Amino acid sequence: GFITFEGGEGTGKSTQCRLLADRLVQRGYKVVVTREPGGSPGAEAIRHVLLSGAAQPLGPDAEALLFAAARDDHLRTTIRPALASGAWVICDRFADSTRVYQGAAGKVSPQIIDGLERIVVGPTRPNLTCILDLPPDVGLARAATRRGTDSVDRFEGEAIEFHERLRKAYRALATRDPQRCVVVDAKGDPKSVSDLVWAIVSSRFAF
Ligand code: C5P
Repeated sequence: GFITFEGGEGTGKSTQCRLLADRLVQRGYKVVVTREPGGSPGAEAIRHVLLSGAAQPLGPDAEALLFAAARDDHLRTTIRPALASGAWVICDRFADSTRVYQGAAGKVSPQIIDGLERIVVGPTRPNLTCILDLPPDVGLARAATRRGTDSVDRFEGEAIEFHERLRKAYRALATRDPQRCVVVDAKGDPKSVSDLVWAIVSSRFAF
């Protein structure tokens, strides 16, 4: 199975990826936990370019192309080989992040977003996407306490409205594609959110 976690800043995606992986490993499954942007040497190099904050920022289309290039490398060198070997793949952000951040809440046209997704992702779509949902003020407060880890918040200075747009866009995605996407209330502590996630995973996959 291919499972992705999505959501705004500070919604707990990385933590939930790890907790879900632990449960699957305990049951004897091979699991690959990975993340975007990144997840392969080439894609991590592109992540560095995207998050290092160049003196003159890239244009929105150039940025979307870099996210797509990173995703292409990540799929080719990490995700597809892992799935082919029978492992579960759990990914912290994937194509929906581009759809939401660069598309819905950003400046890239739906045509470009759709085209890139068709070209890069192709048939390698996640079987399940857990959208971790939180009011932005709660998520931003959480994100502020974990600063100093490798995560860089590109949107620290953005108005709360931007984060509201992200949340709305993620929810709209779940409405449009309910077969794949589930909105998970992320307000609880890590363990109780992980229980919600596990209930969804165990109802959707045959073990
Ligand atoms: O999820 P993570 O904190 O590692 O992401 C790093 C930064 O890149 C975050 O600020 C995130 O919002 C941003 N990002 C983005 N567009 C994407 C994926 C991530 O702007 N498609």
